[in-house]
Amino acid sequence: MNPFVSESRADHSLSSKPGTVGSYDFFYFVQTWPAAYCDTKRGCCYPKTGKPAQDFGIHGLWPNSNNGSYPHDCDPKNPFDKSKIAGLIKRMQLDWPTLSCPSGDGFKFWGHEWNKHGTCSENVLNQQSYFQTTLDFKIKSNILHHLANAKIYPNDGFYKTVDVEAAIEKGLGVAPYIDCNYDKLGVNQLYEVYICVNKIAKAFVQCPVMPYAGRCATRIQFKTFV
Ligand code: AMP
Repeated sequence: MNPFVSESRADHSLSSKPGTVGSYDFFYFVQTWPAAYCDTKRGCCYPKTGKPAQDFGIHGLWPNSNNGSYPHDCDPKNPFDKSKIAGLIKRMQLDWPTLSCPSGDGFKFWGHEWNKHGTCSENVLNQQSYFQTTLDFKIKSNILHHLANAKIYPNDGFYKTVDVEAAIEKGLGVAPYIDCNYDKLGVNQLYEVYICVNKIAKAFVQCPVMPYAGRCATRIQFKTFV
């Protein structure tokens, strides 16, 4: 097994012990391609605010350790409080859309992300700055633009995974991790893009460790979402 690839992110439901605030080395900033979330066997439900745009949506900003493990649910005393993000709701709806069923307004998804991941870095980012910083990373990453520069479009075409990685690395200066899933017919497709962020949540960095090994085939489909 590649020692630089951790399986820990696959173990979501198995890791049970609550983590310690600040016990992480970097973040994964994770964005989801909505068509690939939706066209699986599980399916999806569009948010109450309507179908999201054809763009990457934020999944979360996840503190992670260099050894591949990650803390979670670090501070039950500081649960998600929607009043703290009152000024961000419009941007959250646009750039951090919920896709799970039944259709929601987003607060459940955002609350899950704060309670599970955000509390573990509350030494650096409070609730307001956790969401604001993550929204700003979405703008800064501009993934669709970097892919388009390499003529990689969400047009149901098949692209080499290495070309997708190279296009994003060329645009950002750091290598992403690309995760894939399977549609209802078993077609392997671009699903999520991971970019690493330094511990103080200020800059993209090369990933000290990648999340899991090999869910993308050599060639993957980039699904259209219109
Ligand atoms: P996490 O625990 O942060 O890894 O996120 C996984 C959970 O978030 C699962 O319960 C997913 O169903 C849910 N999830 C992931 N992406 C979305 C999304 N775009 N909308 C709603 N829920 C999501």
